[in-house]
Amino acid sequence: MTASAVHASALDDARTQLAEAVAALGYPDGLHRILGSARRETTVSVPLVRDNGDVEVFTGYRVQHSIARGPAKGGIRYSAGVNLDEVRALAMWMTWKCALLDIPYGGAKGGVDVDPLTLSPAELERLTRTYTQGISPVIGPDNDIPAPDVGTDEQTMAWMMDAYSATRGRGVPGVVTGKPLDLGGSLGRRTSTSRGVAHIALLALKKAGIEPNSATSVVQGYGKVGADAADYLGDAGVRIISVSDRFGAVHNADGLNLPLLRAHVTEHGSVAGFPGGEQIDPAAVLELDVDLLVPAAVEGVIDGGNAHRIQARIVVEGANGPTTAEADAALERAGVLVVPDILANAGGVVVSYFEWVQAQQGYWWTLPEVERGLDDRMTAAWAAVLDQAGATGTTLRRAAMTLAVGRVARAHRARGLTH
Ligand code: GLU
Repeated sequence: MTASAVHASALDDARTQLAEAVAALGYPDGLHRILGSARRETTVSVPLVRDNGDVEVFTGYRVQHSIARGPAKGGIRYSAGVNLDEVRALAMWMTWKCALLDIPYGGAKGGVDVDPLTLSPAELERLTRTYTQGISPVIGPDNDIPAPDVGTDEQTMAWMMDAYSATRGRGVPGVVTGKPLDLGGSLGRRTSTSRGVAHIALLALKKAGIEPNSATSVVQGYGKVGADAADYLGDAGVRIISVSDRFGAVHNADGLNLPLLRAHVTEHGSVAGFPGGEQIDPAAVLELDVDLLVPAAVEGVIDGGNAHRIQARIVVEGANGPTTAEADAALERAGVLVVPDILANAGGVVVSYFEWVQAQQGYWWTLPEVERGLDDRMTAAWAAVLDQAGATGTTLRRAAMTLAVGRVARAHRARGLTH
């Protein structure tokens, strides 16, 4: 499946979800239009001199969907096929995610249409610096704060911080989160999305009356989010019977040996060829008969084509937008409990917020303090969504969206309905 094929409907899905929340809240058309439109969209050309002297020109984006509740916030994605509509959808989801977790940010997302695996480290650094210069007029610690996402990491954030600082003539660590610890990053940030996913998954298992020790799970996308989520779930007693990545998938009904799997991936760069299980078709992992399915890669992997074959009792969305609107309706009809992305994968931006707060105060928290703060916020958001869903007899996604959109709308109204 190519990136562009799976991304085609992300914006449609985001708009459908917003329309449902607006209808549930009874908001008028004008407010709906404000909530549905991005405040600012930036497209930049990103020329790169390759190591061999050839010049290529990539395209980069930064979409700031909302600043109603605070500075725009969201990751930067390096992925082939990234386009403006995809970034618009992801930016909108960040707005709802930050509002749902009640952190004082709006929402944004950025991306460059490039496959980072095709570039050398030196090329990636030059690309990152040029892209950062391009978007530097619109980012900053008080107006828009990027972070890692698919295809970017702590090193990318270090280059971004350095390139942005050069445009300002002073060091500006608060311009990005997800930085290396040496540059003012937070303890626990790297594993925070995964920790939050596992925390919410365990709460969902509990709600469904399933003991972790007797639960089985599949992680689709054994990457930055999925690998650590698998470990956290494994530590809690959950049997991970299959994982996949873009190169392959492995399956072992008795449960994969997670330390050996990690060592294999560190050595070979993929789960493919892991000797502790059979090799299966990566598309098949979504359809295995398990208690818990964690899609942790990209949007649109559960769609109208495969939703009716999903056998999992619970889906916890580690990725942003992995379930299309059509698939969501099919899973609801089938009685599958779907924990939406804006709740399930919010751990990353929660600890980004902690990183920003620590930097503002110049006071650094211990790892237990970060982890306790994260767990408490995830538990509180879970409880609020569950209450809302119970009170209105609706799905966790609609409940989460209604809570989040309501908070953003109240901020807009209090400010006078300007952007
Ligand atoms: N990229 C992550 C997300 O989608 C984290 C964003 C952030 O920390 O700003 O939630």
